[in-house]
Amino acid sequence: MSIEAKNVTKLYGAQKALNNVSFSVNQGEVVALLGPNGAGKSTMMKILTCYLPQTSGQVSVCGFDVVSQALEVRRLVGYLPEHNPLYLEMYVREYLEFVAGIHKLGKQIRQRVSDMIGLTGLSLEAGKKIGALSKGYRQRVGLAQALIHDPKVLILDEPTSGLDPNQLGEIRQLIRNIGKEKTVLLSTHIMQEVEAVCDRVIIINRGNIVADAPTSQVQLLNQTSRIIRVEFDRAYPAGKLREMDGVVDVVEAGPTGCRIFTQSERDLRPEVFRFAVNHQLVILSMDHEEQSLEQVFRQLTV
Ligand code: ADP
Repeated sequence: MSIEAKNVTKLYGAQKALNNVSFSVNQGEVVALLGPNGAGKSTMMKILTCYLPQTSGQVSVCGFDVVSQALEVRRLVGYLPEHNPLYLEMYVREYLEFVAGIHKLGKQIRQRVSDMIGLTGLSLEAGKKIGALSKGYRQRVGLAQALIHDPKVLILDEPTSGLDPNQLGEIRQLIRNIGKEKTVLLSTHIMQEVEAVCDRVIIINRGNIVADAPTSQVQLLNQTSRIIRVEFDRAYPAGKLREMDGVVDVVEAGPTGCRIFTQSERDLRPEVFRFAVNHQLVILSMDHEEQSLEQVFRQLTV
C-alpha cells in the first residue's frame, strides 16, 4: 500500500477540516481527491507530506508513519503545493540544483537535474529566470522539483489551477506519463481533470469522504444511476410507469415523452418495452442517458 489514512481527523481550533477520513492508495495508482473549495483536500495533503500533524488517526506512506517516521516519508514523497513557492529570481537549472542539494543528491545532482529538465520539457527554459516563465512552465518547474529525488509517491495539490487550455492539456499529459511509474494523488475541483487523468476518484466534501470508486464507475454510485429517455406515439399513463420496479422518478417531457430515473444496476429498457406493449403504445425512440461525473459530483456534494 502506498498511502494509508485511517480515521483521520484534523481540527483547526474549533473547526473540523477532516472528519474521521479513511482511504488507501495502491502502488502505481493515479487517484484524485475531488471536492469543492474548503473540502479539506489541502489539509489532507499537508498531513501526508508531514507539513501538518493530524489531530487524531493514523497516516502512513509506504508503511512509514507520517508523524514518527517523517524523515523516511519525506524521502519517499514528492510534493507540489497549491501555491508553489518558487524563487522567482533564480534560474531554472540553478533552482533545481538547489533543491537537489537539499535532498543531498551529491554527485548525482547534475545528471538528475538534466533528466528532470528533459522529462518535464524545460530544456529551452533551463537558462531562464523562473520569474520570466509562464504559469504553465512554472508548474513544470514545480513538477521537476517534486520529482528530483525520485520519490515513489507524488502529491500534487491543484496542479492545473490557473493554467490556460493548452497548458492544461500539456500538464495533464505530463502527469499521465509520470503516473505510469509512480503513485500519484492529486487534488482538483475540476471534474474533467479526473476523467482525463485518474484511475480512481475520492470525493470529499466538508471534511467527509462521500464517494471512493474507479472513475468509470462513479456515475453509477449515485442513487439514480441511469436515466432512460423515451418517446411514445401518444399520451401514456405516467403514474403506472412510476410504479415499475426500479424506477425512482418519471419526469415528463412534453405530452408523449419522459425521462425515467432508475435506481437499478439493471437495464430497465426491456421492461419499458413491455410496459408499452401492455398499454398499446408504440415507442418512437428510447435511449440511455449517462450522468456525467459533474452531475454526480453536484448531487453528492450539495
Ligand atoms: P481545500 O483544499 O479542499 O480547499 P482546505 O484543506 O484548504 O480545503 O480547508 C479545509 C477547511 O479548513 C476550510 O474550511 C478552511 O477554511 C480551513 N482551514 C484550512 N487551513 C486552515 C488554517 N491554517 N487555519 C484555520 N482554518 C483552516
